[in-house]
Amino acid sequence: MSLISDAFAVTDRIKKLAEKAKDAQIRDELVSLLMLFIEIINENQQLKKELDMLKDIEEKEQQIERTNGNIAKYKNKNKEFYICTNCWDSARTIVQVEKLGGNNNDFRCPNCENISFYGERKIFDTVIKKR
Ligand SMILES: [Zn+2]
Repeated sequence: MSLISDAFAVTDRIKKLAEKAKDAQIRDELVSLLMLFIEIINENQQLKKELDMLKDIEEKEQQIERTNGNIAKYKNKNKEFYICTNCWDSARTIVQVEKLGGNNNDFRCPNCENISFYGERKIFDTVIKKR
């Protein structure tokens, strides 16, 4: 039996008791108890969902290897790719980034348009225009 099916059984028993109760005060108390019980069950379900979500975020965070730039390496069981830390930090979304051309380690996020690097900034790749 799951908590939810147990809760439905208890709810049903309280409801039947309330229907049979001849004393109005007892009936009102049973109805109040029933409403409170349903509210607690709903809150419990919501908290379970939030806990699962936080566990999922924590698990993914463990798989993210950060460096100085806003690009991180994401290592899953059988996958490994670069992601945007802007998107992960702000929206908890794993977005794979695109490698930019050239001999540098720059990447572009297709979601937030962020351009950053993974590892250390390769200064020698920076083109300095002089007039
Ligand atoms: Zn992004």
